[in-house]
Amino acid sequence: MQTPESESVVTEQDTVTEPLLSVQDLQTYFFTDEGTVKAVDGASFDVYAGQTLGIVGESGCGKSITAKSILQIIDRPGRIIGGQVKFSPDGAAVQNLLELEPNGPEIRSIRGGEISMIFQEPMTSFSPIHTFGNQIIEAIRLHSSLDKIEAHELAVDWMRRVGIPTPETRMSEYAYQFSGGQRQRAMIAMALCTEPRVLIADEPTTALDVTTQAQILDLLQTLQKQNDMAIVFITHDLGVIAEVADIVAVMYLGKVVEIGPVESIFSSPKHPYSKALLSSMPTIDAAHRERMPSITGAIPHPQNRPSGCAFHPRCPSYMSDICGLKEPELVSVGTDQQASCFLYGRD
Ligand code: SF4
Repeated sequence: MQTPESESVVTEQDTVTEPLLSVQDLQTYFFTDEGTVKAVDGASFDVYAGQTLGIVGESGCGKSITAKSILQIIDRPGRIIGGQVKFSPDGAAVQNLLELEPNGPEIRSIRGGEISMIFQEPMTSFSPIHTFGNQIIEAIRLHSSLDKIEAHELAVDWMRRVGIPTPETRMSEYAYQFSGGQRQRAMIAMALCTEPRVLIADEPTTALDVTTQAQILDLLQTLQKQNDMAIVFITHDLGVIAEVADIVAVMYLGKVVEIGPVESIFSSPKHPYSKALLSSMPTIDAAHRERMPSITGAIPHPQNRPSGCAFHPRCPSYMSDICGLKEPELVSVGTDQQASCFLYGRD
């Protein structure tokens, strides 16, 4: 969890091992007739085995595009134009995934295998013309040496584990026959059945009721402990992040503006955007019918990225001599956080 190689947030893992996944200065742009949208513009973070990195931020901050860029599944007119995604599973040589052919056999063997993803929109992730059973069996067989009968048994077992009732029957059904919540759970089963080393979960529980959400979060945490799996957990729900994350990266307009251990970010956020985001979170201490604070102003359109610090038009701590003129770098703040803001590290 850091940005430039010279800067890093120090955690226990740093001293004992290399990150399983290291995203460095990732840049993914969309080239449209109206102009270039810098959806991700220099995002960096590390995730270690057994660790959960939570990525938070408002809609359009680049969370989901960051996740898709890791697996090179960006739709046109998007293109990854810079950065590195280093993957080194269990002592294997470090591989920059961005050097692999996006449709080549190497990345396809990693995608859905060693690195799995749970998408925001489960309906678009299933084939409408194949039964769910065929799809999950195919995923298992692609990434293991199991035969068809063994893969079928494993698939049924996973559907049961994620809470799909009568899984034997549901195996022969199509995605449209599942309810929204069941589709989400089916997708989680599909992502986990290959026992990935890294799970990228993009709003994995948003469509679920609170009881199922709690069950799924428990399941993810149990599996993480069993398999020492790293999780990149993307959500706008700060309550969920507080529950599952070890490290939190706050994104704003395609950049990580603050990163650090979850306790530090929640108890003492440094960047004005992190502070505003956290203060807009509902608390049980809030007075009855009290209006929740919200972040001033709207997120600028990414094509009209403000100059200097991109948060400056909305920032309550704006400094006229610098904030609109120069772009702040991520710098260490305190013992274990980094923030990109001129309130810190300014000579
Ligand atoms: Fe606010 Fe300036 Fe810090 Fe940006 S650099 S967050 S505008 S104080």
